[in-house]
Amino acid sequence: MRMRRGASRGRNKPHKLLMLLAVLDLFDEGRMAENRIYFDPGLIELFRDYFDAVAKEDDWAQPGPPFFHLRSSPFWHLHPRSGREAEYAALTTSGGGSRRIVDNVAYAYLSHEIYLLLLDEVHRESIRDFILGTFFESQEQERLADVAHSHRSVSAMESSLGHGQIRESSGDDYVTRSAAFRRMVLGAYDYRCAACGLKIVLPDLPSPVEAAHLIPWTVSHDDTPQNGVALCKLHHWALDASLIAPSLDLCWKVSPLLDARRDSERELTRLAGLKILLPQASPYRPKKEALAWRLSRMAR
Ligand SMILES: [Zn+2]
Repeated sequence: MRMRRGASRGRNKPHKLLMLLAVLDLFDEGRMAENRIYFDPGLIELFRDYFDAVAKEDDWAQPGPPFFHLRSSPFWHLHPRSGREAEYAALTTSGGGSRRIVDNVAYAYLSHEIYLLLLDEVHRESIRDFILGTFFESQEQERLADVAHSHRSVSAMESSLGHGQIRESSGDDYVTRSAAFRRMVLGAYDYRCAACGLKIVLPDLPSPVEAAHLIPWTVSHDDTPQNGVALCKLHHWALDASLIAPSLDLCWKVSPLLDARRDSERELTRLAGLKILLPQASPYRPKKEALAWRLSRMAR
């Protein structure tokens, strides 16, 4: 595989290589059953972790340009959105941000032989070693290897939490469990608030939507995704303050402490009776006992 580490103002820019490391992690996570790499929050967050490990002061964590410009490598191809072929053909750059990619590119895909190669874990490992050893200084190599390792730990933790393993085992670390919980819940809800529907995906900024515990972690130590719900910062706060709660029939209940006649409280009171915005066909919908626990704690 021939790659160059891009250069800018006399200093090498590692963005394309970091994007490839993120893609290798998608394979590790089992998310490449199809040869399609979506420019989605899952990929962007993997990229950002690598970026943070090697960023210099004047670097921007922009995942858009490498996702787009990797197309100059013979193994990386972009598939235009249907109906946007003409707009895509006219593009010469990603424009720095993400809008042009989101609007015009459905997904990236790899050359078939590279895709087949990367399905094999041993090959992925040697390509990862090659990228680190060839393009990065030894300190950077260590930091990037740590990120790759933590991504793998989170992915393994997702698998055990997804199978409903609640109890911590002695080797678990809190950071890995929390990261796995967050990724599973946000992924299931597609980064959308289950109360108000807020979803803002800006690749250069963290999501305003968080993974909330139904039964708090301090009470249950339960990081299974069925104990979670995705909420924006306001509605996460309102849940934790027991001002809103999901009911067993999967609608929002609002505490009688709030008054629907007060405009200032409408962002909460308007939820009363509305359906929870649940993930479609996901095994990670909230479990009954977690819903019941929350409802029983509603502030009165
Ligand atoms: Zn919300």
